[in-house]
Amino acid sequence: MSRFANKIAVVTGGGRGIGQEIARTLAAEGAKVAVVSRSAASCGKAADEINAEFPAAATAYAVDVADHAAVQELAKKIGDELGAVNILINNAGVTRDGLLMRMKEEDWDTVLDTNLKGTFNTVKAFMRPLMKAEDPRIINIASVIGLIGNAGQSNYSASKAGLIGFTKAIARELAGRGVTCNAVAPGFITTDMTGELPEAVKEAVLAKIPLGSFGETKDIAAMVAYLASPAARYITGQVFAVDGGMTM
Ligand code: NDP
Repeated sequence: MSRFANKIAVVTGGGRGIGQEIARTLAAEGAKVAVVSRSAASCGKAADEINAEFPAAATAYAVDVADHAAVQELAKKIGDELGAVNILINNAGVTRDGLLMRMKEEDWDTVLDTNLKGTFNTVKAFMRPLMKAEDPRIINIASVIGLIGNAGQSNYSASKAGLIGFTKAIARELAGRGVTCNAVAPGFITTDMTGELPEAVKEAVLAKIPLGSFGETKDIAAMVAYLASPAARYITGQVFAVDGGMTM
């Protein structure tokens, strides 16, 4: 199956974890993928790994999505080097957990700047080419924590709930131009981000997952690939929880 032949995709946070698997999945079905992450080492390694399987499918770009001007430059560079973008996946995200009582201003700012403003920056930068592209798609990686909240993650919950509101607003703004915009809300997925958590926290989360296991990056990539595909043309402004039943 080659659902993404002749398509250009941008995946932020593509250097590791969920983003790398999304980039790999799109490349596997024919997309040329811009793998964007903070560090050149990370996105370079991810692009090399993807290209080892699917030659010349991935190009690495080291950019901080929170930097508005840098993202504008990135859009120009990708337009020049790869062509007009059809698919934008906003996946870059960070956590700085702590109870509000102890949360520092910089913990709030870092999370909001990356997870929410970062998506504002990329959508602003790529919206013009998207409006002219074939089967244009924006997919934002939110979180179940943006739906149900979590003690110790007020910054992260606010950023992901904000991302869901942003998704719906731009879905309405861009619908007339044929650009669909949806959010995927992962539950607990095994990656570096969740690897840092203490065993006791992991066990408590597991007890709340009806399907009885943590998710894998491919569970999220499969949903993203469907939403990015031509088959999903009539779906916009929606949030899809991929969480083993955590939030049903
Ligand atoms: P990881 O921590 O494994 O990877 C995060 C990626 O985002 C890295 O490639 C990192 O770059 C990149 N990134 C972080 N900050 C920036 C920035 N300012 N600019 C550009 N790139 C940046 O995360 P996951 O794969 O676990 O998570 C991916 C997304 O899924 C996040 O949005 C997260 O909130 C969301 N999510 C994850 C869940 C989980 O259980 N894992 C659950 C729910 C949502 P670099 O590699 O260069 O450091």
